[in-house]
Amino acid sequence: MKQKETMLNTPHKNALNIELSDIMIDEIGDNHISTSIDTPMRADAFDMSDSDKIKAIEKHFESIMDIMGLDRADDSLKGTPHRVAKMYIKEIFQGLNPANKPKMALFENKYKYQEMLVEKNISFYSTCEHHFVPIIGKAHLAYISSGKVIGLSKLNRLVEYFAKRPQVQERLTNQIGTDLQKILETNDVAVIIDAKHLCVASRGVEDDTSSTITAFYGGVFKTEDKKNEFLKYLSFTTEF
Ligand SMILES: [Zn+2]
Repeated sequence: MKQKETMLNTPHKNALNIELSDIMIDEIGDNHISTSIDTPMRADAFDMSDSDKIKAIEKHFESIMDIMGLDRADDSLKGTPHRVAKMYIKEIFQGLNPANKPKMALFENKYKYQEMLVEKNISFYSTCEHHFVPIIGKAHLAYISSGKVIGLSKLNRLVEYFAKRPQVQERLTNQIGTDLQKILETNDVAVIIDAKHLCVASRGVEDDTSSTITAFYGGVFKTEDKKNEFLKYLSFTTEF
């Protein structure tokens, strides 16, 4: 994953150093506008060790709790800054670090299977990068082998890796799609994501019933035939 110098220099400035007004900041958040296809990262993102990051975040989270007037001496709250910091680095944002990318061994397609392979209903948890609250969804992936295949569980792992970052759904969809194309050495890849955004459900417009669908169609999946075949498989329900 290449890192791009699109990180904000100061909290309220964008890459062009234009001041963002508070109204624009709310707009970008509530309309979930993404400014980049790559996750915007600074070049020095991994200079600090994980344990130093956890220590630093812990201190900052203590300040947030102090500002809100929470009594950190309370037994229930005492460990919270450390728990949150550890959860950020080791769990919900661990996919920021390319070192955590799952290894993807390719195998020969010995079965000579030439139809599309669909892995559907892959559950994932991600985090909205505008509000830092959960995105909960299902990913559906499909590919047609160019002669190489990967283990099925690797498809789940890849979704999980890109989900464990501050995200917007469109970027998550494209990152999974383009990376699968690279891994499988084919353009014939499709991704559909259906997700619920807690920043829409639990705050803002407080819509608890809507979900958001995004799609990535590469190669033959751009044709109506293959697109429809894929969508048809997704509508199957099988009792197990
Ligand atoms: Zn959001």
